[in-house]
Amino acid sequence: MPSKLSQYRAKRDFKKTKEPSGQARVRGADYPRFVIQKHDATRLHYDLRLEVDGVFKSWAVTKGPSLDPHDKRLAVEVEDHPLDYGDFEGAIPKGEYGGGTVMVWDRGFWLPEGTESPAEALRKGELKFVLAGDKLQGGWVLVRMKHARDGGKRNNWLLIKHKDAWASSDGDAVLRKDHSVASGRTMKQIATGKGPGPKVFMLSRSKAAAADAVWHSSTGPGADAAPARRARKPTVHKPKRAAAKT
Ligand code: MN
Repeated sequence: MPSKLSQYRAKRDFKKTKEPSGQARVRGADYPRFVIQKHDATRLHYDLRLEVDGVFKSWAVTKGPSLDPHDKRLAVEVEDHPLDYGDFEGAIPKGEYGGGTVMVWDRGFWLPEGTESPAEALRKGELKFVLAGDKLQGGWVLVRMKHARDGGKRNNWLLIKHKDAWASSDGDAVLRKDHSVASGRTMKQIATGKGPGPKVFMLSRSKAAAADAVWHSSTGPGADAAPARRARKPTVHKPKRAAAKT
């Protein structure tokens, strides 16, 4: 268990929230993954998560990503999240940390630009990267702001689209693509537990959760997934093994 997640765990009571505790098996991948979760909490925001060294480095993008390179979107760095969090879609109970509805708004793979490691680029405060997702593609940059707003911590970054073929002058058009890439559902359907459950991307099993995500124990999202586990054999791992040899 990476100690990087101690802050994540300290903020949550896994007996009350259905969020993953970071103990589920995550499948391997040929490229680092990213997930953006639309989160209708106290204030609506979009959580950008980039897989770096076994965890999701995470930023809350208050207005959501913009395809317009002129828009500099505030991205507030938050605690590292476990990789299994990338499959979480459902409701966090009111009164719990981050209470509200969570949608898997986009996901896919990402790569850093340049030769620096992502950890080093983030330490220095500028990470240029390329996204290959369902909704977001092309070049982006995260730049840490020079001055902290509230003394001490420099948690504020800017998320900016590079000028390339995937940029657009209608920066917010992409935000109107408002269905889950994991389940096809709307926020309302997710909030009420209706429609299909999310398809997995991170987890080593074929189903992330039921549509109404009934995960009430501290054992994480696997607690209700016994039938799904039986079904995973024919679908998972085989292509990855073959690819790893080349
Ligand atoms: Mn959030």
